[in-house]
Amino acid sequence: MTVWVLGDQLNPETTPLQHEDHVLMIEAHNFGERLPYHPQKLVLVFSAMRHFRDELRERGYEVTYIQAETFAAGLDRFYDAVPGADLVVMDPPSHGAGERFRHLVESRGGSLTLVENDLFLTTPAEFDAWAGDTESYRQEHWYRHVRRETGILMDGDDPAGGEWNYDDQNRETPPGDWTPPSAPRFLPDDVTEEVVEFVQERYPDAWGSADEFVWPVTRDEARRALDHFVENRLADFGPYQDAMVGGEWALCHSLLSAAINLGLLTPHEVVTAVETAYRDGKAPLNSVEGFVRQVVGWREFMRHVYRRSMPELAEANQLDQTASLPAAYWTGETEMRCLSEAVGHVYDHGYAHHIERLMVLSNFALVYGVDPQALNRWFHLGFVDAYHWVTTPNVVGMGSFATDVLSSKPYASSGNYVNRMSDYCASCPYAVSKTTGENACPFNALYWDFLKRHEAVLRGTGRMGLMYSHVDRKDDDEWEKIEARAAELRQMGRDGTL
Ligand code: FAD
Repeated sequence: MTVWVLGDQLNPETTPLQHEDHVLMIEAHNFGERLPYHPQKLVLVFSAMRHFRDELRERGYEVTYIQAETFAAGLDRFYDAVPGADLVVMDPPSHGAGERFRHLVESRGGSLTLVENDLFLTTPAEFDAWAGDTESYRQEHWYRHVRRETGILMDGDDPAGGEWNYDDQNRETPPGDWTPPSAPRFLPDDVTEEVVEFVQERYPDAWGSADEFVWPVTRDEARRALDHFVENRLADFGPYQDAMVGGEWALCHSLLSAAINLGLLTPHEVVTAVETAYRDGKAPLNSVEGFVRQVVGWREFMRHVYRRSMPELAEANQLDQTASLPAAYWTGETEMRCLSEAVGHVYDHGYAHHIERLMVLSNFALVYGVDPQALNRWFHLGFVDAYHWVTTPNVVGMGSFATDVLSSKPYASSGNYVNRMSDYCASCPYAVSKTTGENACPFNALYWDFLKRHEAVLRGTGRMGLMYSHVDRKDDDEWEKIEARAAELRQMGRDGTL
C-alpha cells in the first residue's frame, strides 16, 4: 500500500506512516486560482509540503511527489506509472472530500482506504456517541466531557484548580505602557524562496502581501513556535485574549492555528506543552485553562459540528442577509480604526486574532447585512489557517448567525464592545458615543438597525430579552434617524467611503 499524504496531514507520527514506506504527495496548483488566496497561504501550504517530502525521504520513505494542475491529473500520472496501486489516506475533515478522492482513485483502477484522521484529539465516533441524535450541542458540555475522558488538566475527577472556567480572571485590557512579547519569525529558506517566486508568478491576482513571510513550514519550526509561545506569551494569553491594541497584530495569541491545521503540530502535543507549563509552575491556570478550552473545546467541537451539519451549514442564511462585502474588506481603506486595523492584519499576515475575527470583521459584516457565503469566501481566501471544515462553522455559524447550530444568539454588538476591549476608539474619527448624526460610529446605527430588521427571528431567541428591552424604548423619531444612518452607511460601504 502507498500512503497518500494530503497537504494538511504533514506529520510523520500518523498511523499510516508507521506501517508503510511508500508515499504519494500531489501538489495541485489549480485550487489556488479558484479564489484570490492570500499569497502567504499558498506559500505556506506548498513550502510545508515540499519540506515534508524532503523530511520523509531523509527518514527513508520512498516519496512520489507530483506537481500537477489537479488531483485528477496528478493521479493520472501516478496510475500511469503504478497501475492498480492501493492507496491509504487519513479521512480528510472537509465535507465529502474522502468520497471524492475514492471516486478519483477507483475510476483510475486503484483502491483507496480511508482511515481515522489522527491529527484530531477526538474521533467522529466519540462525538457521535456523546451527542446522540440531538442537534443542539453545547460547546461547554463537550469541553468538560473531553477533559474528563482524556484527563487533560484534571486532578482526579475534578478540573485542575476546582473550576472549569477562569474567564472572570481574563477579558482584561493591557495597561497603556504594555508591549507584547515579540512574535517568533521563521525566515524563508531556499525551498520557501523558490515557492515564493512560483506563487508570485503563478497567482498574480492573490489578495494580500507576500512581503513578510514568517510562518513555520516544518515540524521543527512549529515545535519551536510552540516553545516560544509557552515561554513568552502563554502567561498573558488568558487576561489579554479578548483585547485589541493599536499597531499590534499578535498580542499574546499563540499563532499556532496554521501549523496545527497543517498537521505540523498535533492538538495533543500543544495542549500537553501548555498543561506541563502549568504543572511546572511556569504559567497561571487562567491562561492555561483558557488556551486548553480553545483547542480541546472549540477546535474539536467545530470539526464535529461541521461534519454533522454539512452540506446545509455552508448554504445557511436564516437571516436572509444579501449585501456584498463593504469595499473596505478589500482595500483596508476606512476611517474606522478597528476595521482598518483588522483588515490590515489580514492583508499583511493572513492572520487576525480571534476577537478581531469575531467582534470586528464578522460582527461588522453581520450588522451591515453581508451574505454569509460572501463573508465565508473572504475569510477562506484571506487567512493562512483557513480550511473549509474550520472556517465555515466559525464564519457561517458563529460569526454570521446564519444558523443557530453553534450559538443561541448572534455575536452582534454596537461600538461599545470594541471600545471596552481596545484602545481604538480614542483615536478614531468616528464617535463611539454617537448613534446617529455626523461622525457617529458606524457600528451603532447598524447594530440597532440589525436588531430591528431581524426582530422576527431574534426577539424570541434565548438571551436577547435585554437587548429588545432597549429596542422597545426607542421612539419612532429615533428609529427614523437610525434607519437613515444605516442606509447612508451601507451606501458608504459600497462606495468605499466608510
Ligand atoms: P489562539 O488564540 O492562540 O488559540 C489557540 C488555538 O485554539 C488556535 O490555534 C486554534 O487551533 C484553536 N481555536 C481557538 N478558537 C477556535 C475556533 N473557534 N475554531 C477552531 N479552532 C479554534 N480558526 C482556524 O483555524 N481557521 C479559520 O479559518 C478560522 N476562521 C475563523 C473565522 C471566524 C469568523 C472566527 C470567529 C474564528 C475563526 N477561527 C479559525 C478560530 C480562531 O479565531 C483561530 O483559530 C485563532 O484566531 C487562530 O489564532 P491563534 O493560533 O493565535 O489562536
